[in-house]
Amino acid sequence: MPLAKYHAKRDFDITPEPHGSGKMSGGHELTFVVQKHQASHLHYDFRLEWNGVLLSWAVPKGPSLDPSVKRLAMAVEDHPLEYGGFEGVIPEGQYGGGTVMVWDRGTWEPEPESADVDAALGSGELKFTLHGTKLKGSWVLIRTKFGGARSSWLLLKHKDRFASAEDVVAAKPKSVLSKKLMAQIAKTAGGGVARAAKADPTRSAAERDEKETEA
Ligand code: MN
Repeated sequence: MPLAKYHAKRDFDITPEPHGSGKMSGGHELTFVVQKHQASHLHYDFRLEWNGVLLSWAVPKGPSLDPSVKRLAMAVEDHPLEYGGFEGVIPEGQYGGGTVMVWDRGTWEPEPESADVDAALGSGELKFTLHGTKLKGSWVLIRTKFGGARSSWLLLKHKDRFASAEDVVAAKPKSVLSKKLMAQIAKTAGGGVARAAKADPTRSAAERDEKETEA
């Protein structure tokens, strides 16, 4: 049961998160999603579709486009593919209670395309290309501490034309799904607006993102 841990942590009578079928859905490009999640601590959940589930890592500071910056990525339980479309509020008191934003999503492929992904994950070094709205180009996940489902990894951007010194999480704070900020998502879903707003940038950064979205 690949989603057993995911199911065990949640009460689906209370949380609006998807239960997930766990069904394989082959024959399409592999998807990825990055969800901004204001739980007890703000973090970004980085998820790669593989073998019918979303392999998942919690990245406290979020991804960086700067190849000299290593971002800690803590392995967490596999999530159902349907989770990639989830944006809303997990009720307080439930596992991960707080606001969730679809911060980026798209497709991914291993590098090289013919790479054995299971072997790469097993050896603790997975190279891949992202085709997202905010995240593009070549990346790598490197395991630094083995602990089964609680392993520590580093998420790193490789040098390519998409590498940048721009602080992408600050510069592009809006949902790629709804264009909303965290506070607006919380408001729509009846969650805690004040707490969600703490995860949003200052007005000026949000306005810059607005201009980029329109450009
Ligand atoms: Mn999370």
